Amino acid sequence: MQELYDIMQSKFGISEKVLQYCIQKENEIKSQFQKIDEITEYNQLKVLSAMQKNKLSDIHFAATTGYGYNDLGRDVLENIYADVFCTESGLVRPQLTCGTHALAVALAGNLRPGDELLSPVGLPYDTLQGVIGIRKEKGCLTEYGITYKQVDLLPEDKFDYDGIEKAITEKTKLVTIQRSKGYRWKVSFSIAQIKELISFIKSIKKDVICMVDNCYGEFSEIQEPSEVGADLVVGSLIKNPGGGLAPIGGYIVGKEEFVENAAYRLTAPGLGKEVGATLGITSSFLQGLFMAPQVVNGSIKTAIFAAKLFEDLGFAVLPKSNEARADIVQLIQMGSAENVIAFCQGIQKGAPVDSYVTPEPWDMPGYDCPVIMAAGAFVQGSSIELSADAPIKPPYHVYMQGGLSWHHGKIGVMTGLQTMVDKGLIQL
Ligand SMILES: *Cc1c(COP(=O)(O)O)cnc(C)c1O
Repeated sequence: MQELYDIMQSKFGISEKVLQYCIQKENEIKSQFQKIDEITEYNQLKVLSAMQKNKLSDIHFAATTGYGYNDLGRDVLENIYADVFCTESGLVRPQLTCGTHALAVALAGNLRPGDELLSPVGLPYDTLQGVIGIRKEKGCLTEYGITYKQVDLLPEDKFDYDGIEKAITEKTKLVTIQRSKGYRWKVSFSIAQIKELISFIKSIKKDVICMVDNCYGEFSEIQEPSEVGADLVVGSLIKNPGGGLAPIGGYIVGKEEFVENAAYRLTAPGLGKEVGATLGITSSFLQGLFMAPQVVNGSIKTAIFAAKLFEDLGFAVLPKSNEARADIVQLIQMGSAENVIAFCQGIQKGAPVDSYVTPEPWDMPGYDCPVIMAAGAFVQGSSIELSADAPIKPPYHVYMQGGLSWHHGKIGVMTGLQTMVDKGLIQL
């Protein structure tokens, strides 16, 4: 359609060469979109049926204040989450301030002094290291006499089953499994792999609690970790399941007992899920969940498009454009600081918010090198919205994720590439 190409060129500065290259690459990946659409359709129906089953009604959107006793909307929201994830119970709250907080609450609520926590998939996500005490922070789990053990992945990101078997002892109370690659150059685990890992762990110790950090993974496949044996599944609402509409929040779903333990930690022993006013936020959580399968669809198509554009220009990417997806994150090895900066600045140029701002690398607390972040988001720090970030150090990996819709994600990636071309960093 000529009008489409005209607006891309006149309003977004896309050159004829970049346009032709992108059209060609889009045509080459289009055949993969059908499979992604099928997963989305399945998940849309899963969410819809949970809403119908729980008789969601507009009275549930009413705000509560104060203690928030008898908040019907909150209860229905949590039951809907429990049904979507096929679990007994759910805790879905604005009082869970982010993914790290939800994970910390799930861990601290279910571990007691003398218990041991095991990660069978190597080093956990950066912020979790502080929660556990791998990196000492005030109030970390090790300060409470909870010990930690880790089994690293074998080459090619395989599970070290012998190592895991040896690491499980009578002290092992909880096993934490990170589904997504997070900010590392490694694969993300498919539901099939998580299933295999959990069955192995349960075959060694039946009553160990298996928790999955589900951040970035929700709705990328037709099943969730709780459908293949996970006892607790935890994530952030400013990632996939918030659908871009939740302005804050986290969720914990799983077995009744373990969710209740988490709730007693979030509020207070004896209070648990009974308190926690929702202040009028419930409809955003529910509408966000309703949109989430479609938003994840857009994010995954955007990730595949970016992988294809850059792999065919000779860059290393993970996953490759034709590999199955287990989350929404795309890694691109940019090879130089100039490339990283230009790409992130270009992503920002395609944003709906702050598109006129030029991101620059800065010394962020907690990092050993400058970091650049492109995020023109409606919700601060939301990474279900198109965003890219990168530490400025060799081999110059960029982590790109999100996209509220495929048609926005596409132009965002195109302005990213265009900026690199404009700076003479890439020749097409
Ligand atoms: C984002 C993320 C977290 C932490 O979530 P925040 O909301 O940033 O605190 C934990 N684990 C993984 C794998 C993540 O991607």
